[in-house]
Amino acid sequence: MSLYHAFSPEDAIAYAKSITGFFAANALLACEEIGDGNLNLVFRISDPQQNRSLIIKQALPYAKVVGESWPLSLDRARIEREALEIQHQLCPELVPAIYGGDNELAITVMEDLSDYTILRQGLIDGNTYDNFAEHIGLFIATTLFYTSDLGMNQQDKKLRSARFANPDLCKITEDLIFEDPYRNADNNNFTEDIRSEAEKLWQDHALHLEVALLREKFLTHGEALLHGDLHTGSIFVTSDSTKVIDPEFAYYGPIGFDIGAVIANLLLNYAAQPGWCDNHDILQERRAWLLSTINGVWNHFEQNFRKLWDANGIDFMSKTPGYQDLYMRKILQDTIGFAGCKVIRRIVGLSHVADIDTIESELHRRQAKITALEIGKRLVKQGRMAASIAEVIEWAEAAA
Ligand code: ADP
Ligand code: MG
Ligand code: MG
Ligand code: MG
Repeated sequence: MSLYHAFSPEDAIAYAKSITGFFAANALLACEEIGDGNLNLVFRISDPQQNRSLIIKQALPYAKVVGESWPLSLDRARIEREALEIQHQLCPELVPAIYGGDNELAITVMEDLSDYTILRQGLIDGNTYDNFAEHIGLFIATTLFYTSDLGMNQQDKKLRSARFANPDLCKITEDLIFEDPYRNADNNNFTEDIRSEAEKLWQDHALHLEVALLREKFLTHGEALLHGDLHTGSIFVTSDSTKVIDPEFAYYGPIGFDIGAVIANLLLNYAAQPGWCDNHDILQERRAWLLSTINGVWNHFEQNFRKLWDANGIDFMSKTPGYQDLYMRKILQDTIGFAGCKVIRRIVGLSHVADIDTIESELHRRQAKITALEIGKRLVKQGRMAASIAEVIEWAEAAA
């Protein structure tokens, strides 16, 4: 019989007490459930006297968003913890410390980052984070290089990729990102004031062709161990520190998918900006910062990835002159295409972003969706021909 049961706060406290050496034996612990997701419970357990705390994240066997009718494998908790451990080993500054976990209970115990802000909320509040692009570029380059055939033993990589098959969570991506927005699917979720825009997506066969090619890459190109869900809600920030959480969608996939996720969510915030600031100069300033951050994310990724490749590329063929340039070009094009898909799904698909949905003015909310769709379609349609990140910046400016 399985040990699994969804934790109550009391269960979470009892489990936290069983972790040797973290809390004092006689500590009076407090616990609150702070999860905002649809698939998991997140408990914060603290000893206010000693000012010590930790997080227990537990997977639920179904997606809350649709009641209990959408079952999801609990094995994703193991996948999330193993991915966090690999990422923490590669980038200790950029990932929370993992204190433990249990596969049967589907839990991970980790460092409490309550002093940090979720980047999505920070951006909505109008903050800027000048070290973010450098940090996330380093995170993506390091975690993806050292889990790819370029940076790890190629036989070990095959074995590792088997541990991260993650079929249930990949199916969510395949359906919600690479299919539903392009047809009249039950799971779509858009407001009536953009119905005609949604209907245009369903008819646009040139768009469908590009999405089919991107979906094929998602299905078949096991380049590196992706985070798999690297939106701005999976990133904690302060003015000088960045921490990546929530890799439950981790699997071996195309490198551009993670970079595209970051860029897409910055673009969604960019599209939303008129709904958040009514001062023209501030609006221009915020948008300029977002675009320079997008530029920085790509450039820091590229510089770090090339540097790691030059210093550590493990096989003879990877040193072939010209190969690295072609490889980087392909990643750029994939990044742009995936970013476009991720923008589009957040407007017409099941799951949206607060950057747009919580804009108060109905007019600005609608305009943000139209702007985002325009940018998203262009990224998908032109990504395969792109030669530099500067094109993304131009397209975003043209749509604003
Ligand atoms: P889900 O997979 O359900 O989206 P997340 O891992 O994104 O779960 O966590 C949901 C929320 O729980 C986060 O937005 C954050 O508010 C809180 N949280 C998660 N991990 C931590 C942590 N290590 N420290 C502090 N808060 C956390
Ligand atoms: Mg969440
Ligand atoms: Mg999350
Ligand atoms: Mg998650």
